[in-house]
Formats: sequence, C-alpha cells, structure tokens
Amino acid sequence: MTDEQPTKPVRHLLGLSGGKDSSALAIYLRDKVPEMEYFFADTGAELPETLAYIDMLEDYLGKPIKRLNSKKSFEYFLKLNGNFLPTAKSRWCTSELKIRPFEEYVGNDLAISYVAIRADESHRKGYLSTKPNISARYPFIEDGVVKEDVLKILETSGIGIPEYYEWRSRSGCYFCFFQRKDEWVGLYERHPEKFEEAKKYEAYHKEHGRTHTWSQGEYLEDLIKRSDEIKANALLQKETEKQKPKKKLLDKFADDSDDGCLICML
Ligand code: SF4
Repeated sequence: MTDEQPTKPVRHLLGLSGGKDSSALAIYLRDKVPEMEYFFADTGAELPETLAYIDMLEDYLGKPIKRLNSKKSFEYFLKLNGNFLPTAKSRWCTSELKIRPFEEYVGNDLAISYVAIRADESHRKGYLSTKPNISARYPFIEDGVVKEDVLKILETSGIGIPEYYEWRSRSGCYFCFFQRKDEWVGLYERHPEKFEEAKKYEAYHKEHGRTHTWSQGEYLEDLIKRSDEIKANALLQKETEKQKPKKKLLDKFADDSDDGCLICML
C-alpha cells in the first residue's frame, strides 16, 4: 500500500459571457473537448436576453453551464468602493463579480482556461489568471478562426446570435460603462426599468457633486433627452461604416472593438 494520492486530472474550463465569441467557442469545442466544464459568472445585473441565451446554449451543449454568483452583490462592492461607480480604469466590478468567482471555482486545481480571442484580434488582451495553476489556451487563434467564421458557427448550429445584438454590441451588465450612448438609448427603449435602476446608481454621485457618470460627460437623465440626436448620429456612423470596403457581412459587428472587458464580453 502506498500513501501517494491519485493525481487529479487537469480541468478544462470555458467561461461563457453570453457574447458571440465565447458561445461560438463552446460550440466549436463541444465535441473536441468532451470533458469541458462550462461556466457563466452572473453579475446579477445581466440582461434577460443574455440569461435566455445561456439557457439555450446549455441545451445545445447538452451539459450544465455552472452559474457562478458572487457571494456579495454589486451594491455591496459599490459601498466598499466609496460609492464610486466602476470605470474602465477602475474596474472593480470585473475583479469582484467575474474573476474572483471564477478563481474560487477553480480553487487550487490544475486547469486550462479556453479563451475566445479570435485570430483577427490576437492583439487583444483577455483576462489571464495570475494563479499559477490556471493556464490559458486560445483555440480560435491556434486554428485561425476569424469573426466571419464565428458568425458561421453560430448560424450553422441554429443558435444564432444573442437577441440583444439588435440594439447593443456586447454582453455584460445592463449598466456597463462600456456602452455607447446609442446603446443606453436602446436600454431605455427595451428595458426602461433597468435604465431607471442605472440612473439611481448615479444619484449618489450627483448628490455629492461628483462629475463622474456612467456615460462620459453627462448623466443618463440628460443623455435620454438627446435620444433623437444620439440615434441619428449612430445611424450616420453605421452608414459611414457600410461604405468602408470588406465590411458587408460584418456590419452588425463593425464596432466590435477592443475597448471592452473581455471576460464580460467575449
Ligand atoms: S460588464 Fe461592464 S459593468 Fe459588468 S462587470 Fe463587466 S466591465 Fe463591469
């Protein structure tokens, strides 16, 4: 008899954000990595469209998608951060609501995290755990999969793209500060109650004379008064994008730029 413990197998993990790239990667790898564990770090502020899409994906994959919920809420962390809303530079929301639950889920197990950065955006920097037991793999980069392929994967699977892409370019929290102004208008039109909730989070800043706002340069209550102008500008920009060569198939995702938070939005 020996005292040696049996070695735990390496875990294979794929985090879904409810965005098109991670969803396509899950579909792409479903049969290639049968031992894959899927997870979704739910911030508690997800769009209903995202949650519905994750449910559908779960059925497609034929495996549970583990919902990882932070033990504490966004409100709790907001207070802890002096009631300062998160910003691109101070993204405490990502670390507390996305990264920490993931790292707790992995614990000290040896794990490979599959990241959905595509071959046409290999310059992007995704979240990489600093934990030594978690390493990353980039199957889309390894296999030269680009945006057009991702859209094909989703279309061919029958899953299609998430519904929110009709008015928003990324997954993530309904109040995400990475939203464009026309996406805030989209939120107001599709989910007015969520828009009101987002407005409430700004109230503390306003009452205390802080200039920081969710959307750069203006409070949401002022932004929405300009909704016609914002929508007209967005339309104009879309038209200009269409004129650019090689964009036709990908118009819907023309602004799929790298200013977002990859763990939330891939
Ligand atoms: S989606 Fe936006 S607000 Fe939500 S955790 Fe990610 S960066 Fe923060």
